[in-house]
Amino acid sequence: MLDPVSTSTSTLLDDLTARIDGSVLAPDAPAAPAATTGFQLGVRHRPDVVAAARTADDVRVAARVAADHDLPLTVHHTGHGTRVPAAGGILLSTAGMDGIAIDPAARTVRVGAGVTWGEVTDAADRFDLMAPSGSFPGVGAIGYTFGGGLGLTGRTDGWAVDHVRAFEVVGTGGALDEVTADTDPDRFARLRGTGPVPGEVVTAMTIGLLPAGPLTGGALVHDLGPVGEPGDPAPLHAFREWTAGLPDTVTAGMSVVTYPDWDVLPPHLRGRRVARIAVTARAGSAQTDRLLAPLRAAVRPDEDTVGPLRPVESSRVYAEPEMPHAYTGENVLLDALEPAGLDAVAALDGPMTVVGVRHLGGALAGPAAVPDTVSGRSAAYLVSALSPIDPEQAVADPSAAVAAADPSRALRPFGSSARGESPGFRFGPHAG
Ligand SMILES: Cc1cc2nc3c(=O)[nH]c(=O)nc-3n(C[C@H](O)[C@H](O)[C@H](O)COP(=O)(O)OP(=O)(O)OC[C@H]3O[C@@H](n4cnc5c(N)ncnc54)[C@H](O)[C@@H]3O)c2cc1C
Repeated sequence: MLDPVSTSTSTLLDDLTARIDGSVLAPDAPAAPAATTGFQLGVRHRPDVVAAARTADDVRVAARVAADHDLPLTVHHTGHGTRVPAAGGILLSTAGMDGIAIDPAARTVRVGAGVTWGEVTDAADRFDLMAPSGSFPGVGAIGYTFGGGLGLTGRTDGWAVDHVRAFEVVGTGGALDEVTADTDPDRFARLRGTGPVPGEVVTAMTIGLLPAGPLTGGALVHDLGPVGEPGDPAPLHAFREWTAGLPDTVTAGMSVVTYPDWDVLPPHLRGRRVARIAVTARAGSAQTDRLLAPLRAAVRPDEDTVGPLRPVESSRVYAEPEMPHAYTGENVLLDALEPAGLDAVAALDGPMTVVGVRHLGGALAGPAAVPDTVSGRSAAYLVSALSPIDPEQAVADPSAAVAAADPSRALRPFGSSARGESPGFRFGPHAG
């Protein structure tokens, strides 16, 4: 049983400090900025107090204190998916909840709310297992899984949520429940599909691990030409045609980046439009090479890194930037990848934009073993568009920052077969 908590706002810090194992910080404490800032620098939390939890009991206390003081409780882990800034209330940092317990016989892992997929991948390596993780190992294992979790081998292995066995959840007010398909099917379905409701915190997740091999992966990179001139869309069309006939052993994605002429960029990228086709196959190199042959012939890549892949090297498939920055992004789920949309991407100008195309289908299209609300099961492709924005402008005037970057302009030409969007690929501040 939890002790009763004072309802005086002035005792908020004292209430929390006396009751939790983790640290409690006032917003002006020297350590507060590090605890409230994450990968997304375009959204700045301004809580009344930061509670850095270490245990599920810490979370229960924070939820109870928030309820008793009638304050919002905002959850913060890595900040990759932060969209709405905390304005007052308690910011609950889960970064210290770092437990990883692998059961190699059951091929499952129980992760705390502060664990990233990269940490699970490293821990699973010695058991010849891998996580159902995505393009960037630094994202939170639990935050990524809400809404689906689109993994590197998704077309073979399904969505990450398909492997979830249980969520340990603290509800608003502090009650702790183990939520499974049997104990609470509706809540389990909602957590898998749309994630927690405000104030609800998943303190741990038990999820299945995947065999580490066979695995082949890497990227074909092709320079489409200078930004400002219409780019050659042929490699983009080659990706569309190649993916249309792919077996479920291959999961592929493509990004097209319009690089500005910035001094900080390597000379070969400055002012160029570059396509990267990322490939992960549940197959050996020889079989993957056979499947890739028509794509390689059509794309004629400037760089080709597809080869044997260990899960611990998975970040090299998409090679996404590791530095925190400010960004805004939207996405659309599609029945088909329309050629006109790809032509528009090959000619895209204006502010720097990363257009990402993920090939869905295969095991991602299968019916869920238990009901859920994951969007994207019936779509063929997910197209996302993401632009860097100025962090100060994003915090002061989010609408102006989003309008200036306008990544959605890259999605409009794909509109006619749209089937909604995937919540995990909406990024940064809102437009209004
Ligand atoms: C570079 C990059 C690559 C990505 N690649 C992929 C990919 O390949 N596949 C894919 O599916 N997604 C991908 N994503 C999307 C990513 O999975 C989401 O942004 C996800 O929300 C990140 O979760 P987080 O916990 O790391 O981030 P946070 O911003 O800390 O959390 C995201 C949201 O989830 C909430 N939340 C986090 N943990 C909990 C918890 N324990 N309990 C309750 N609420 C919680 C937070 O309050 C917040 O609203 C990528 C994102 C980026 C930036």
